[in-house]
Amino acid sequence: MEETKDTRTRIVEAFSSNGCPLCTMLRRDELDSFYQWVGQSNEIAKNSARIKQLLDAGGFCNFHFWRFQEMSTHYGSANIGAQLIDKLLETMRTHKQKYFVDAIKHRESHFKIWLIECHLCYELGEKERVYLKELLAILRHNGHRSRYEKSCGLCMPHLMKVIDYIEDVSLLKYLFETEIDQLEKVKTDAASLVSKRYPPLRWRQTEDEKKSWFRAIEKIAGRRGA
Ligand SMILES: [Zn+2]
Ligand SMILES: [Zn+2]
Repeated sequence: MEETKDTRTRIVEAFSSNGCPLCTMLRRDELDSFYQWVGQSNEIAKNSARIKQLLDAGGFCNFHFWRFQEMSTHYGSANIGAQLIDKLLETMRTHKQKYFVDAIKHRESHFKIWLIECHLCYELGEKERVYLKELLAILRHNGHRSRYEKSCGLCMPHLMKVIDYIEDVSLLKYLFETEIDQLEKVKTDAASLVSKRYPPLRWRQTEDEKKSWFRAIEKIAGRRGA
């Protein structure tokens, strides 16, 4: 119950963020999780439960593996890389070519069948489901609607996802119509930013216009790696 209350409060606070509230929350969650993995990747002597989980899964998905590499030290990447390659070699020596022939027949890359699941994608997917449901609970009543209307609103990928959880047609209508207004505002700000590209108009760019380049792309695509 406390967790639910806390999540709702955090979602409402994220209405004031610079973009889609759910993308903002998931970006923070992603960073929090990364800090745990990256922080523990340097420990050579004893692997933590987090690192064991990573090794068992065979690593991250492509996107999260490169993010991990960017955040980790060279020693952390080398430590994890050496242990994963050790596991890969063991698999290749045990199964020989048959393993890869089967993989090709099933149209999977050798990494795909070895890399079963990215834990970070899984964790974020679970959190996203909770957030989507909580957002609907928040918007079911009028209490926080005006704050939501002033926010950037959901990115298009999150708007598509939230539809799966909506049972109330009037809530769907509300979200859809609010989204049109929010998209209109981002479009106007972005077009205005371009028209004020050069001085002296450049000095008259508003704060919303200055943030519009990020908001416009996130509106369409959702957060990076979504
Ligand atoms: Zn989003
Ligand atoms: Zn991933």
